[in-house]
Amino acid sequence: MGLLIAGAVVIGLLVGSFANVPIHRWPNGGTVMQPTRSACPACGALIAARDNIPVVSWLVLGRRCRNCAEPIAVRYTIVEAVTAALFGATAWVWGLDPLLPALLVLVWSLVVATAIDLEHRIIPNRLTLRLPFVLAPLVVFAAVMDGAWIDLRRAALAAILVPGVMFALSEVFRLVRGQVGIGMGDIKLAISLGMVVGYLGALELVVFAYATIISAVVIAVALMAVGRARLASRIPFGPYLAVGALVPILAGEPAVALVGLVLGI
Ligand SMILES: [Zn+2]
Repeated sequence: MGLLIAGAVVIGLLVGSFANVPIHRWPNGGTVMQPTRSACPACGALIAARDNIPVVSWLVLGRRCRNCAEPIAVRYTIVEAVTAALFGATAWVWGLDPLLPALLVLVWSLVVATAIDLEHRIIPNRLTLRLPFVLAPLVVFAAVMDGAWIDLRRAALAAILVPGVMFALSEVFRLVRGQVGIGMGDIKLAISLGMVVGYLGALELVVFAYATIISAVVIAVALMAVGRARLASRIPFGPYLAVGALVPILAGEPAVALVGLVLGI
């Protein structure tokens, strides 16, 4: 178990480092494959492999580019560290479950979606429209391994219903308030979120909905408390969806018990 968690953290560091590639290229229309090597955003110098070790290189190089000594943005390292921590936590909670590959793919995608959405207020189609096709075989694999056909059927239903409900809500919001509350990127991301959280269970879907709304309210209240209320309205919805999905994934049992208590079932 300790080995599995350690392995997940190391893989998280590596794919977290790789996550910085789509985070910086997809919003500008670039691809992951071209160019094949990473370059310093300031001077354009190609980054040598020894200077591209997640987190470590950033600390060793004194947080500067080896070629031009321009400071390296801390967010690269934050993305690496957050991905590693979430991979470790997911492996710790789930162990060698057949669903673990699907969960890790989703967790990585949520880090990418959150980072891009916070900066550009979009979630690219390159992520949201590809992800369901990567996740579906992994969820089917888990269902085959566990013989969980009811869970698989619920996953398929939720992959349609969750984005459907969000689209309906955004239309109502648009008619009432005259502004867009939930973007199409969020709704497309919800296909994948509905699929995976739906596979976990019906109550997990309720937890997902509650956790998304609560995280949005908590952030809004916290920003109001420090006098930054206007910032709350500028935060996109994607990060809240990511937090909302991580709660049933990482704290499924206590969260479901709590929701069951509240709903009286
Ligand atoms: Zn440089």
